[in-house]
Parts: sequence; structure tokens; C-alpha cells
Amino acid sequence: MSALENLPLTARTSEFLARKSHLMLIDGKWVAAQSGQTLEVLNPADESLLAIVPFAGEADVNAAVEAAQRAFNSPGWAKMKPDQRQRLLLRLADLVEEHAKTLAEIESLDNGKSAVIAEFVDVALSASYLRYMAGWATKIEGSTMDLSLAFMPNNEFVGFTRREPVGVVGAIVAWNFPLLLACWKLGPALATGCTVVLKPAEQTPMTALYLGQLIQAAGYPDGVVNVITGDGPSVGAPLTRHPGVNKLTFTGSTEVGKLIGKAAMENMTRVTLELGGKSPVIVLEDCDPAVAAGGAAQAIYFNQGQVCCAGSRLYVHKKNFDRVVADLADHAKALKIGHGIDASTQLGPLVSQEQMERVCSYIDIGRSQGAEVVTGGARSGTTGYFVQPTVLANVDQKSRVVQEEIFGPVVVAMPYDDLDQVAAWANDTPYGLGASIWSNDLSRVHRLIPKIKSGTVWVNCHNMLDPAMPFGGYKQSGFGKEMGRAALDAYLEQKSVMMAV
Ligand code: ADP
Repeated sequence: MSALENLPLTARTSEFLARKSHLMLIDGKWVAAQSGQTLEVLNPADESLLAIVPFAGEADVNAAVEAAQRAFNSPGWAKMKPDQRQRLLLRLADLVEEHAKTLAEIESLDNGKSAVIAEFVDVALSASYLRYMAGWATKIEGSTMDLSLAFMPNNEFVGFTRREPVGVVGAIVAWNFPLLLACWKLGPALATGCTVVLKPAEQTPMTALYLGQLIQAAGYPDGVVNVITGDGPSVGAPLTRHPGVNKLTFTGSTEVGKLIGKAAMENMTRVTLELGGKSPVIVLEDCDPAVAAGGAAQAIYFNQGQVCCAGSRLYVHKKNFDRVVADLADHAKALKIGHGIDASTQLGPLVSQEQMERVCSYIDIGRSQGAEVVTGGARSGTTGYFVQPTVLANVDQKSRVVQEEIFGPVVVAMPYDDLDQVAAWANDTPYGLGASIWSNDLSRVHRLIPKIKSGTVWVNCHNMLDPAMPFGGYKQSGFGKEMGRAALDAYLEQKSVMMAV
């Protein structure tokens, strides 16, 4: 175990992690895996053992889905009035806020990210999103239709639609924003009256387990939310295949997303997929180079670059290219690398050894394909999964580091000549999640926005998310929206009712 007692943690964090061996939540009970198998969770900052959690398998998935089905049909949940669902979500949001420091510390120790940033971004956005979705619980509406039925001119009909919860939701999330992604799924599911089997990533299950306690404390009936821990093959795959799951919602890699999408079709399970990205940061001619460099640094280095919409490709007008890249390299060099619990840390470790090696191997691929390493370019230190913030220049648009998602603190920078060229390059990857344009030239900005094939376009900012704004991908970045009113649709069926009167 890491020397947690030497870290300045809240009493709640120390107490939670002192358990060392944790259980998962099925049907309101904290249980071990039926097989008795367990999974080790490491602290990526020092590679020490943080916790041991159940390594669930198909039998546990079945138990969790059955519990969620029972809860879905139980009067306590099925007949609960919308204002009561709203009240429960608001209570959960309050609890998340009350436990913000603890959730942020656990997230930091589990994922590597800065606890300070986790508190002000991950946890604050989680609470804000739960509150936003709480408001929708009482505003789910159908429509009434005036019907013609031309072939029955002498009869009267009334038509209306009802929205109904889709049922049991299988929610599978990635490790980059463990708590926030869980809330992205739980918020609309619980607002609409669904029940949930939540599977956190095997690297970062701890905040989901802590959240399970808060869900119980908020007063949710047993089985409405189940949290099971394990890896993709042991839990994710059986959950995806399970015929009792009515909707799958996934955040993770495009590769796994495709597997989930295919499996979902087998049972006609509703599915939304929030997948990878290779988001461009486009700096127009008029943009102050200092502003562009600061924005580009934030776009790629936030969360160690482990952000699906990270600004991982930087296109700068050739006039300012050298200056912006030099300033960006200065920003990168100035970032304080360290343990996420240290309040002065700006860049923590990557989540796992696998991810660190993957990112370093991409840097090597870049080098071998002729990229110039402007700054960074290697692991940082020898303990913990730290990677230096890196800038690669002299890269070819078709090279792998430009085309493929690296998911780490590595940005590729390229100069461009004109708007049409940069729009074409911006769209020239399989992905389409986010893009940012840096300029105050309104007319050029407006000409560019419709040309960019991505789910979000930011102007003079990047990585900004708000509960009210739909977020999701074009192309291989997935389909369906998280957040905003649009997110609710994915958790609701629409029933048409026609009555002869
Ligand atoms: P990454 O490649 O960034 O680790 P993944 O897409 O592999 O991200 O993982 C995201 C989530 O998907 C995790 O919770 C993981 O356990 C889960 N997962 C991985 N493989 C599968 C699979 N075959 N079926 C369902 N879920 C999976």
C-alpha cells in the first residue's frame, strides 16, 4: 500500500481507503464477486497498491441486471412521481458536493489527476450535471396530435405520445473522468426513471464505489443503481450481451465502442457511444500568438491529455507558426509535474503503465516518421507513469501521430496557408468530436464553423463543457449525445397512442 498516512487527505478519504479491500454494490448490498476473485487498483503516481476490488464475472453481471430489472418494475421506483425523482437527484447532487474533497482526492489517487482540479472540474461538473438532470425529471413530455386518418373520414381519433423510461441501462465508462462520466450516465437515467448497472473502468473504480454509498445515502431504492467492478472481458462484454439490458451507454475507445455497438444490435439494445477524438485547434491569422499558445497548452495538457476532445492537433497560420509553437513549448516546460495530491501539481501521471508506454511509443512513431520533438518526448522520472508534455512539429498530415488518437500530453503542430486548406486538414481524420477556432475575425470564424465536421466547435476556448450543451461525436467519434435535453432522448422510448373516440 502507498504511504497514504503521509498525505494530507480528508478523514473521509483516509477512512475509505483504509478498508483496502472493497466490495461492489448489487441490489442494495455490498458484495464480493461470486468467484471470490479480486482486482488490484494502483496509484499511478507511485505505482503502489491503492485498493483491492471485486473482479466480477458473468454471474455477477446477471445478478446486477436482475436486480436492476426488479427495481425497474418495483412500485417504489416505477410509481415514483417525477418530483420525487427530481428530489432524489438533487439530494445526490448535494451529497456529491458535501463529499467533494473526498471524491476529488480518491479520483486523484486512482487516476493520477490533480485533486485541486478534480474538485473544481470533475466533482463540480458532476454535481452541476445531476442538478441539471434533476430539473428534467419533472419536464418529460409527449405531444398531442390532430389526426386526419384520410381513409376513415367519418371517424374521430385522438392521438398523443408518451415518453417512457427505456428500462435497464448498462453504463460502461472509461478511466479519464471516472466520476463525471458515471454522472453523465446516471443523471439522465435516474431523471427518466431507468435503473442502472454501472461498470467503471478497471483502472479507476474507486469513485464509482464511493458514489454508490452516496446513492444509498440519498435514499434510492435497492437495485436502482448497481456498481460492478471488473474488466472489459469479465464485466463489460457480458453486460453488453445481456438481453435484460435495454440500453447501453458507453464512453471509451472507438475500438471497444464498435464491439459494443455490434453486440447491442444483436438484441436491438438502444445504444449511445461517446468515443475517441483527434480534435484540431485552429489558430487564424489575426489571433494573438500568446493567446493561441496559452489556449493550445490548455487544450492538450488538461488532464494529462487524456481527454476525448483534447486539442491534439494544432494548426497555426504560417505567419505565426514559429512564435506560437515556441510559446507553447515554453508553457509545456513550465508545467509542474507531480503527484496529484500535491496542490501545486499541474500535470499528474498518466493512468497506467500501459497508457504511459502507449503514449511513449507514439512519440517514437512520430520520431521515426520524421517529426521534430520541440519539447518533451519521453517519460518523466522513473517511478509513476509520468510523461513529459510534448510538442511535435514537422509532421505530415498523413502520419500516424496526426491521424491516430494518442490520449496523452502530446500535440502535433502544423502550419497552414488558407482557410480551405485548414478546414480540409481539420476534417482529415476518422474522428469528429471537437474543434476549436482561435480568432476574433467573425466573418472567417462563421465561414469555418459549418465546414468543420465535429460535434462541438469552440471559439476562443477549448474543452469547455456545460450540462446544457449537447456533447457527442460526428464520424467515428460515436453517436448519440450526452448532456443537454438531447441526452434524455437516449433514455426514453416514445409511445404513440391512437384512440378511436
Ligand atoms: P481505453 O482503451 O482507453 O482503456 P476502453 O475503451 O478499453 O478504453 O475502456 C473503456 C471501458 O470499456 C472500460 O470500462 C473497459 O473495461 C470497458 N471495456 C473494454 N473492453 C470491453 C468489451 N469488450 N466490452 C465491453 N466493455 C469493454
